[in-house]
Amino acid sequence: MDKLKLKWKIFGFLLGFSALLLIILWIFQTVFLSDMYKLIRKAEIKKAIVLVEKNIDSPKLKDVLYELEVSKEIIVRPTMDFSPPISNIPNKFDRRRPESITKEKKFVLKNGSEISLTFYAMITPVEATVSTLRMQLFIITGIMILLTTLIAMIISKHISNPIEQVNKSAKNLAKGNYETEFHGRGFLEIKELSDTLNAAAKELSKVERLRRELLANVSHDLRTPLSLIYSYAEMMHDFPKEVTPEQCEIIMNETKRLTSLVNDMLDISSLETGITKLNKRYYNLTESLNSTVKRINELAKKDGYQLCFEYDRELSVYADEVKITQAFYNLLLNAINYGGEDKKVIVRQIIKENSVRIEVIDHGEGISPNDLPFIWERYYKVDKKHKRPVMGTGLGLTIVKKVIEMHNGEYGVESEVGKGSIFWFELKLE
Ligand code: ADP
Repeated sequence: MDKLKLKWKIFGFLLGFSALLLIILWIFQTVFLSDMYKLIRKAEIKKAIVLVEKNIDSPKLKDVLYELEVSKEIIVRPTMDFSPPISNIPNKFDRRRPESITKEKKFVLKNGSEISLTFYAMITPVEATVSTLRMQLFIITGIMILLTTLIAMIISKHISNPIEQVNKSAKNLAKGNYETEFHGRGFLEIKELSDTLNAAAKELSKVERLRRELLANVSHDLRTPLSLIYSYAEMMHDFPKEVTPEQCEIIMNETKRLTSLVNDMLDISSLETGITKLNKRYYNLTESLNSTVKRINELAKKDGYQLCFEYDRELSVYADEVKITQAFYNLLLNAINYGGEDKKVIVRQIIKENSVRIEVIDHGEGISPNDLPFIWERYYKVDKKHKRPVMGTGLGLTIVKKVIEMHNGEYGVESEVGKGSIFWFELKLE
């Protein structure tokens, strides 16, 4: 496995960081200790010189020098005096030959005479200190390793455990278990990830449900006309002399139904994958709608349907005529299929300030408020039981929705159960 588990990575990083800190500490405390100490002593001598210079004529000079010796271990003696210096205070420097940093400085007194003083800053040998520090460092290292392990465990519990949890659920989801729920806890990002995955799981389950329904519906929709066509063709084959125009018509109707189903499915898939591009141009919308209404009127007349088209004046729009006609055709077909006893369908063209609204009105069964939000979804059918001849693909309104959306238009429905529905769409006037 080339990827380490998160908790081991965290542990590694923390360990590395602690090691770096310890190394820096070690370098400063042992290797540079002596040099740094000397630097500090030099700086202290400079300060002492300034102090002495200030008090060179003052009666307080003695106190100042005494203070320097006691607190700073800086001994000041006239130059040319004997060396090494011997402190007035009985201390450790008396017992051995002390090391010191020296600095000479000439001072001019008030009476004009000059005096040269030497400053000795005593240097304490650091070896003992270094070995103490080294011992401490060993102990600190031990503590750091323990702490690192502890912190890594705590962090991994807070970070990697929730991720592992989400990962486990995601694997479950990948297996097709769409009921999987994600409970991301611990920190914001994992919570958001969980929410996103929950939403994705919900969408997937919806798609899966729709897919199952489609398979059931489509297989039913395909099988029924196919078996009808087959049995009538068989009959015509076996008894060629008894072929009636009705039998031929059934075959033709069923073929038409199959064609429209296949076409709808192809349309929706090309609209959804974005393959379809709009072929926009200016065209006479009123005339185009009118001819569609007339065409359907001719076909539906024999079943007693009556379609009428109401409009103020003719109007041109900049749109894809084929697509708009297709959407309009789907609305008309629905109005006929789900229409009322009066078998009347009204189409209205209403010109607004910046748009044109097309309404398709029927007085049929209407749609219950529970179903209203879903009718635009793919394969959604209010009536799950098929009752011929009302048989759709469940794709008609989805095609309408896609086409109008592609035109940046608006669409909607107002419906009341038992009274009928008004399906409408609006196109912007450019
Ligand atoms: P279908 O091919 O089933 O008609 P649609 O997408 O065109 O599919 O419509 C989806 C559902 O909306 C239909 O199954 C139907 O129940 C409902 N519906 C559509 N138009 C009307 C209407 N004019 N009156 C009542 N219900 C309608």
